[in-house]
Amino acid sequence: MRLSKLPLATLRETPAEAEIASHRLMLRSGMVRRLASGLFTWMPLGWRVARIVERVTRQEMERIGAHEILMPAVHPAELWRESGRWEDYGDLLLKMRDRGEREYCFGPTHEEVITDIARRELRSYRQLPVSFFQIQTKFRDEIRPRFGVMRAREFIMKDSYSFHLGEESLSDIYGDYRQAYSRVFERLGLNYRVVQADSGEIGGSRSQEFHVLADSGEDLIVWCEGDDFAANLELAPALPPEGDREAPGDAMTEAHTPGMRTIRQVAEHLDQPLENCLKTLLVKAEGGGVVALVLRGDHEVNELKATGLPEVAKPLALANAQEVAQAASCPPGFVGPVNLSVTTYVDHAAGHRANFACGANRRDKHFVNVNWGRDLPEPECVDLRNAVEGDRSPGGGGSLQIARGIEVGHIFQLGDKYSRSMNAVVLDENGAEQHMQMGCYGLGVTRTVAAAIEQNHDERGIIWPEAMAPFSLVIVALNIARDEEVRATAEQLYAELQSQGVEVLFDDRDASPGVKLADADLIGLPHRVVVSARGLKQGTLEYKHRRADDAERLSAAEAADLLADRARR
Ligand code: ATP
Ligand code: MG
Repeated sequence: MRLSKLPLATLRETPAEAEIASHRLMLRSGMVRRLASGLFTWMPLGWRVARIVERVTRQEMERIGAHEILMPAVHPAELWRESGRWEDYGDLLLKMRDRGEREYCFGPTHEEVITDIARRELRSYRQLPVSFFQIQTKFRDEIRPRFGVMRAREFIMKDSYSFHLGEESLSDIYGDYRQAYSRVFERLGLNYRVVQADSGEIGGSRSQEFHVLADSGEDLIVWCEGDDFAANLELAPALPPEGDREAPGDAMTEAHTPGMRTIRQVAEHLDQPLENCLKTLLVKAEGGGVVALVLRGDHEVNELKATGLPEVAKPLALANAQEVAQAASCPPGFVGPVNLSVTTYVDHAAGHRANFACGANRRDKHFVNVNWGRDLPEPECVDLRNAVEGDRSPGGGGSLQIARGIEVGHIFQLGDKYSRSMNAVVLDENGAEQHMQMGCYGLGVTRTVAAAIEQNHDERGIIWPEAMAPFSLVIVALNIARDEEVRATAEQLYAELQSQGVEVLFDDRDASPGVKLADADLIGLPHRVVVSARGLKQGTLEYKHRRADDAERLSAAEAADLLADRARR
């Protein structure tokens, strides 16, 4: 493609609304343009990248035998009422009416539509297992669309659905999808992790997420290099500390902690390490009242674990000042487990502390030198906290690492949730009707483009992984409008590389060298070759890989073959 023919306006300035690198760089390099909140047009360079993600994904879906289909984007309300999600899906669901006042939604996902297909088309166990996929536009009315195409309202997803007689078949095909997704992200050249994910309301189902590692990721993921443990932080168990608790020392005393409501203030004032100051959270209980959760000052409560306790109300909610006063007769900030007469759960790590500090259930007072089993009963220990870096891995292979990730894919064993509510059955070997087992598998095509940039960029621009780049090589011809030799050489190189099967972007614009070189870095193709009068005088072209620090001179005569070898994909 000739840049002179592409109306590409790269932006020097960083667009004000863009908070993260991928959003900034996609706008600056002209990959996407914003239409309205969460709505984007994919411009030629960006769309080429999205098409690559689609192509690789499609190939891997076909490799595991999934059939490509295309379902409508607009769905009748009745289907969603059947599954119960017309209400349950909440405000993410964009609802609309046609001229006859019939209700519809714009599909945020397609379980209902595919289950309707399945119950009409599938009759016998002999037709199973079968799996379908589509690559299509979804709409979710996200409460906070942000980060550009990363969390858009309209986006492209590859979604698949599989149908089975029995859980074993579901589990097999789920395994195929897991591998297919791994191959997609591997082939795209992304650094990713597969982690255990929360399967939400549907108990017992298996679910895994694929995360591209990047500092700006919204999710925290935990894994261990020494074993195969990997999970979303919310699901990662925090094991009890090893070894015996320290022996009790001096007697418990009361300390004056005026106005100190945060555990950090208390720790600093008492000159204690944060981990030796226990914090006591009072949270709302199921059906009224409060429950106390005790954690080390440096640990965070894990919402999923806390709400998994029978007494704790869902979603997790802190008690208000009135409830705190009633339960502990003090303001929030001074609550502690000594003589506290509400149900109390203590995190394993907090239960392992000796000679610790904690709230005294009196305004402006904390206790110090507190010991379980001496100043208060032995605790009821549970896992209540988020795992932290360095914790022992539940897999036994060493310590945990934590990083931020961007969820680009999610695979899920649904079981019979939809086949039951929508009555999708087949006849088994004995001629008896059985509800089909279902799996669903989503991959965010457009989010993957943004995630790749998030993982691969520097201060000058994007650094595309070889497989994802919209073109693999850019020819930058300097002063092309004024120098006939430069023009002739660049044109010839362009033609030759194309004939050798290289996808080439040719910067033949009449623009300054500074602008062209900056744009080349911004657009971020892996290979760059500069044709300049100065180089040609010595019979050379200048080659640079986008990741390399220094350029290299190539003999102009041999450049085409050499470059084709490096840049062909
Ligand atoms: P999130 O937790 O990020 O909101 P989700 O868990 O709701 O995503 P799924 O229903 O699992 O998303 O959708 C499958 C895939 O679709 C996700 O893994 C993600 O890659 C992509 N996706 C979901 N929501 C968006 C969005 N608003 N913009 C772009 N891609 C999205
Ligand atoms: Mg998900």
